[in-house]
Amino acid sequence: MQFHYQTTSPQETEGLAEKIGQQLKGGEVIELSSDLGGGKTTFVRGLARGFGSPDRVASPTFTISKVYKNGKKELHHFDFYRLQESGLIAHELDEVIHDPLCTVVVEWAEVVSQVLPDDRLSVKIKQAGQDNRSLDVSCPEKLSYLLARVTS
Ligand code: ADP
Ligand code: MG
Repeated sequence: MQFHYQTTSPQETEGLAEKIGQQLKGGEVIELSSDLGGGKTTFVRGLARGFGSPDRVASPTFTISKVYKNGKKELHHFDFYRLQESGLIAHELDEVIHDPLCTVVVEWAEVVSQVLPDDRLSVKIKQAGQDNRSLDVSCPEKLSYLLARVTS
């Protein structure tokens, strides 16, 4: 399934992501792509809110990964910006991907693309001016429930 959205503010991008976050059960993998400043981390902020985490989402660029919790469920946020070699962190990523209580969301996933499952939600964001973004969402059948609350 392919969906296309336009947003005109960071709040709108967060709102879209929040509706997806509300559907998370665990076990999903979400890949975000865009240029720097495209809105990937903004998207994760909405995702974490929908997921039910009270924690503030910041860019994990310097720490590579952050975990947001809701009861037993965990949302793992990875950012591989500027990472040349995935090494140990790819191992950690592989482990959480196979944990049914964990949802994984990844920025700059190229370096770890071999670890990501084919069945993943992919969100490609393009900047179309100061506050306009176009989002191309492709979703495998298996994860179609994630889009249940999203309308174009
Ligand atoms: P990335 O993680 O892709 O580098 P960020 O989410 O950190 O991007 O930054 C996106 C920047 O663009 C933020 O400053 C945000 O406020 C701004 N922005 C403006 N319009 C939008 C929009 N429609 N959607 C998302 N972010 C937007
Ligand atoms: Mg970011």
